[in-house]
Amino acid sequence: MIQDLQPDRHGSVNRADGLFRSGQKDSFRVMKLSIAKNYGWKYFMNRRTFLQRMSAFAAIPAIPFVFPVQLGASGAGPVAIAPLNKPKETWRGLLTPEAYRVLFEEDTEEPGSSELNSETRAGTYICAACHWPLFESQNKYESGSGWPSFTQPISGHVGTKPDYQLIFLRTEYHCARCGGHQGHVFKDGPPPRGERWCNNGLALKFVLQAEPLPPLRS
Ligand SMILES: [Zn+2]
Repeated sequence: MIQDLQPDRHGSVNRADGLFRSGQKDSFRVMKLSIAKNYGWKYFMNRRTFLQRMSAFAAIPAIPFVFPVQLGASGAGPVAIAPLNKPKETWRGLLTPEAYRVLFEEDTEEPGSSELNSETRAGTYICAACHWPLFESQNKYESGSGWPSFTQPISGHVGTKPDYQLIFLRTEYHCARCGGHQGHVFKDGPPPRGERWCNNGLALKFVLQAEPLPPLRS
Protein backbone atom coordinates (compact mmCIF):
# COMPACT_ATOMS: atom_id res chain seq x y z
CA MET A 1 0.00 0.00 0.00
CA ILE A 2 2.71 2.44 0.96
CA GLN A 3 4.67 1.53 -2.17
CA ASP A 4 1.72 2.80 -4.17
CA LEU A 5 2.25 6.18 -2.54
CA GLN A 6 5.74 6.67 -3.89
CA PRO A 7 6.08 10.02 -5.59
CA ASP A 8 6.68 10.86 -9.19
CA ARG A 9 8.52 14.13 -8.70
CA HIS A 10 10.37 14.48 -11.93
CA GLY A 11 7.74 15.49 -14.40
CA SER A 12 6.67 18.92 -15.40
CA VAL A 13 4.41 21.00 -13.21
CA ASN A 14 0.78 20.39 -13.90
CA ARG A 15 -2.27 22.27 -12.78
CA ALA A 16 -4.84 20.16 -10.99
CA ASP A 17 -8.23 19.72 -12.57
CA GLY A 18 -11.11 21.78 -11.29
CA LEU A 19 -12.08 19.40 -8.52
CA PHE A 20 -10.43 21.31 -5.70
CA ARG A 21 -10.66 24.81 -7.01
CA SER A 22 -12.77 27.62 -5.61
CA GLY A 23 -15.54 26.87 -3.17
CA GLN A 24 -13.85 23.96 -1.46
CA LYS A 25 -13.01 23.96 2.21
CA ASP A 26 -9.76 25.69 3.02
CA SER A 27 -8.55 22.77 5.09
CA PHE A 28 -8.84 20.52 2.06
CA ARG A 29 -6.78 22.98 0.04
CA VAL A 30 -4.10 22.93 2.72
CA MET A 31 -4.03 19.12 2.61
CA LYS A 32 -3.82 19.09 -1.19
CA LEU A 33 -0.93 21.56 -1.32
CA SER A 34 0.85 19.89 1.56
CA ILE A 35 0.67 16.45 0.00
CA ALA A 36 1.79 17.96 -3.30
CA LYS A 37 4.85 19.31 -1.52
CA ASN A 38 5.63 15.84 -0.20
CA TYR A 39 4.86 13.76 -3.24
CA GLY A 40 5.09 16.12 -6.20
CA TRP A 41 2.52 18.00 -8.12
CA LYS A 42 1.95 15.28 -10.74
CA TYR A 43 0.38 13.36 -7.90
CA PHE A 44 -2.75 15.44 -8.44
CA MET A 45 -2.75 15.68 -12.20
CA ASN A 46 -6.11 14.03 -12.62
CA ARG A 47 -9.15 13.45 -10.51
CA ARG A 48 -9.20 9.66 -10.73
CA THR A 49 -5.59 9.31 -9.63
CA PHE A 50 -6.13 11.75 -6.80
CA LEU A 51 -9.23 9.97 -5.49
CA GLN A 52 -7.53 6.60 -5.71
CA ARG A 53 -4.61 7.86 -3.74
CA MET A 54 -6.72 9.62 -1.15
CA SER A 55 -8.50 6.27 -0.66
CA ALA A 56 -5.11 4.74 -0.07
CA PHE A 57 -4.36 7.38 2.55
CA ALA A 58 -7.66 6.64 4.30
CA ALA A 59 -6.99 2.91 4.32
CA ILE A 60 -3.74 3.05 6.24
CA PRO A 61 -3.40 3.81 9.93
CA ALA A 62 -2.63 7.37 10.89
CA ILE A 63 1.05 6.79 11.52
CA PRO A 64 3.83 9.16 10.56
CA PHE A 65 5.13 7.41 7.43
CA VAL A 66 7.16 10.47 6.52
CA PHE A 67 9.63 11.12 9.25
CA PRO A 68 11.01 14.49 10.25
CA VAL A 69 14.11 15.41 8.37
CA GLN A 70 17.41 14.94 10.13
CA LEU A 71 19.24 17.97 8.87
CA GLY A 72 22.88 18.17 7.96
CA ALA A 73 25.29 19.74 10.40
CA SER A 74 25.25 23.08 8.64
CA GLY A 75 21.62 23.02 7.53
CA ALA A 76 19.87 24.84 10.33
CA GLY A 77 22.38 25.55 13.02
CA PRO A 78 22.12 27.93 15.93
CA VAL A 79 20.40 31.19 15.13
CA ALA A 80 23.03 33.75 14.19
CA ILE A 81 20.98 36.84 14.89
CA ALA A 82 18.69 38.06 17.64
CA PRO A 83 15.04 37.36 16.81
CA LEU A 84 13.03 40.36 15.73
CA ASN A 85 9.99 40.31 17.99
CA LYS A 86 7.74 42.34 15.76
CA PRO A 87 3.97 41.83 16.16
CA LYS A 88 2.35 39.99 13.27
CA GLU A 89 -0.14 42.79 12.77
CA THR A 90 2.70 45.21 12.06
CA TRP A 91 3.87 42.99 9.22
CA ARG A 92 0.42 43.02 7.68
CA GLY A 93 0.85 46.67 6.73
CA LEU A 94 4.21 46.03 5.05
CA LEU A 95 3.28 43.03 2.91
CA THR A 96 0.78 42.12 0.24
CA PRO A 97 -2.16 40.10 1.61
CA GLU A 98 -0.87 37.01 -0.22
CA ALA A 99 2.64 37.32 1.18
CA TYR A 100 1.28 37.98 4.68
CA ARG A 101 -0.82 34.81 4.58
CA VAL A 102 2.21 32.72 3.62
CA LEU A 103 4.69 34.36 5.99
CA PHE A 104 2.57 34.77 9.09
CA GLU A 105 -0.36 32.39 8.68
CA GLU A 106 1.65 29.51 7.13
CA ASP A 107 -0.38 29.45 3.94
CA THR A 108 1.04 27.73 0.86
CA GLU A 109 1.04 29.38 -2.55
CA GLU A 110 -0.22 27.51 -5.61
CA PRO A 111 2.56 25.46 -7.23
CA GLY A 112 3.95 26.93 -10.42
CA SER A 113 2.73 30.39 -9.48
CA SER A 114 6.05 32.02 -8.55
CA GLU A 115 8.28 33.84 -11.01
CA LEU A 116 11.19 32.69 -8.86
CA ASN A 117 10.72 29.14 -10.15
CA SER A 118 12.51 30.10 -13.34
CA GLU A 119 15.06 32.45 -11.76
CA THR A 120 18.56 31.18 -12.55
CA ARG A 121 20.72 34.29 -12.21
CA ALA A 122 23.41 34.67 -9.56
CA GLY A 123 22.26 36.38 -6.42
CA THR A 124 20.75 36.08 -2.97
CA TYR A 125 17.24 35.18 -1.86
CA ILE A 126 16.15 37.24 1.14
CA CYS A 127 13.15 37.05 3.46
CA ALA A 128 10.32 39.07 1.88
CA ALA A 129 9.36 40.39 5.31
CA CYS A 130 12.56 41.42 7.11
CA HIS A 131 15.12 41.13 4.25
CA TRP A 132 17.34 38.64 6.11
CA PRO A 133 19.37 36.62 3.53
CA LEU A 134 18.16 33.00 3.49
CA PHE A 135 19.48 31.27 0.36
CA GLU A 136 22.24 31.70 -2.22
CA SER A 137 21.54 31.11 -5.89
CA GLN A 138 24.20 28.41 -6.25
CA ASN A 139 22.10 26.22 -3.98
CA LYS A 140 18.88 26.62 -5.99
CA TYR A 141 17.79 23.76 -8.23
CA GLU A 142 14.80 22.66 -10.29
CA SER A 143 13.00 20.06 -8.21
CA GLY A 144 9.98 19.74 -10.48
CA SER A 145 7.73 20.40 -7.48
CA GLY A 146 6.40 23.77 -8.68
CA TRP A 147 8.01 25.70 -5.82
CA PRO A 148 11.46 27.36 -5.68
CA SER A 149 13.75 24.71 -4.21
CA PHE A 150 17.16 24.77 -2.61
CA THR A 151 19.63 22.16 -1.43
CA GLN A 152 20.53 24.15 1.68
CA PRO A 153 19.90 27.52 3.36
CA ILE A 154 22.54 29.97 4.49
CA SER A 155 23.83 28.29 7.62
CA GLY A 156 22.07 29.47 10.76
CA HIS A 157 19.73 31.83 8.93
CA VAL A 158 16.60 29.66 9.22
CA GLY A 159 14.93 27.91 12.10
CA THR A 160 12.93 24.67 11.94
CA LYS A 161 10.09 23.10 13.86
CA PRO A 162 7.95 19.97 13.55
CA ASP A 163 4.67 20.53 11.72
CA TYR A 164 1.79 18.25 12.73
CA GLN A 165 -0.77 19.92 10.47
CA LEU A 166 -1.30 16.67 8.57
CA ILE A 167 -1.37 13.02 9.58
CA PHE A 168 2.29 12.79 8.67
CA LEU A 169 4.96 14.78 10.42
CA ARG A 170 6.80 17.37 8.38
CA THR A 171 9.60 19.83 9.13
CA GLU A 172 8.62 23.47 8.77
CA TYR A 173 11.26 26.17 8.42
CA HIS A 174 11.15 29.90 8.85
CA CYS A 175 13.27 33.04 8.81
CA ALA A 176 15.39 32.95 11.96
CA ARG A 177 15.15 36.72 12.34
CA CYS A 178 11.46 37.60 11.93
CA GLY A 179 9.93 34.12 12.27
CA GLY A 180 8.17 34.39 8.89
CA HIS A 181 7.17 30.98 7.49
CA GLN A 182 9.11 30.02 4.36
CA GLY A 183 8.34 26.40 3.56
CA HIS A 184 9.08 22.79 4.42
CA VAL A 185 12.26 20.73 4.10
CA PHE A 186 12.20 17.16 2.80
CA LYS A 187 14.82 14.47 2.61
CA ASP A 188 14.49 13.73 -1.10
CA GLY A 189 16.86 16.32 -2.51
CA PRO A 190 19.98 15.78 -4.61
CA PRO A 191 23.29 14.57 -3.15
CA PRO A 192 25.38 15.15 -1.20
CA ARG A 193 22.99 16.53 1.44
CA GLY A 194 19.82 14.95 0.11
CA GLU A 195 17.70 17.88 1.27
CA ARG A 196 14.95 19.73 -0.59
CA TRP A 197 14.14 23.10 0.93
CA CYS A 198 10.75 23.72 -0.68
CA ASN A 199 10.04 27.45 -0.44
CA ASN A 200 7.10 29.70 -1.15
CA GLY A 201 8.15 32.27 -3.74
CA LEU A 202 5.93 34.86 -2.04
CA ALA A 203 8.09 34.62 1.08
CA LEU A 204 11.29 35.51 -0.79
CA LYS A 205 12.77 38.41 -2.73
CA PHE A 206 15.62 37.90 -5.17
CA VAL A 207 18.56 40.31 -5.23
CA LEU A 208 21.04 40.14 -8.09
CA GLN A 209 24.64 39.56 -7.09
CA ALA A 210 25.69 42.90 -8.60
CA GLU A 211 23.16 44.82 -6.52
CA PRO A 212 23.43 45.69 -2.82
CA LEU A 213 21.17 43.89 -0.39
CA PRO A 214 18.37 46.14 0.88
CA PRO A 215 18.64 47.27 4.50
CA LEU A 216 17.16 44.94 7.09
CA ARG A 217 13.71 45.92 8.27
CA SER A 218 13.57 46.54 11.99
ZN1 LIG B 1 12.47 37.48 7.99
